[in-house]
Amino acid sequence: KLPLVAIVGRPNVGKSTLFNRLVGRKLALVDDRPGVTRDRREGDATLLGLDFRVIDTAGYEDEDPVTLPGRMRTQTMAAVREADAALFLIDARAGLTPLDEEIARWLRSETTPVILAANKAEGKAGESGVLESWALGLGEPIPMSAEHGEGVVDLFEHLRPYI
Ligand code: GDP
Ligand code: MG
Repeated sequence: KLPLVAIVGRPNVGKSTLFNRLVGRKLALVDDRPGVTRDRREGDATLLGLDFRVIDTAGYEDEDPVTLPGRMRTQTMAAVREADAALFLIDARAGLTPLDEEIARWLRSETTPVILAANKAEGKAGESGVLESWALGLGEPIPMSAEHGEGVVDLFEHLRPYI
């Protein structure tokens, strides 16, 4: 059984971009039940000779206040609880939002190890967001750019002890 890494974070921080970069075309286990592919996509990745499975969660991506989100959040929570480590992405360009803080609070209450990644940190525009994200209380933020492929190896080095 492969080590499991869950990618979590609010909408638009770059979770699926990172997932696609890690997994590429080796997408596996896409469940075709309605809604399920949206909630959770899994695929296998190999980085620096280590194989692991990645889950792309979307549990915080639905604005509907009553119906779907409850179930989707439940799926995200289940993914994190099942995972050997969680990659928590924030958007370093946008800075922190209340939803980032809410997710961080929840992650701090869980036992799954969390690696905090400050995505979209290419260039200078992300510098203040990277510094700001120390305030989430999840340790050192790893600056990265899922889109440009920067910082992914550094991220992996922080992940490696847990997988
Ligand atoms: P998700 O909602 O968290 O899955 O986010 P997506 O992966 O769909 O990305 C949301 C938007 O952010 C897209 O327009 C991406 O192209 C963009 N994006 C993702 N990663 C980066 C990055 O490293 N830098 C920049 N500048 N944009 C990014
Ligand atoms: Mg996505």
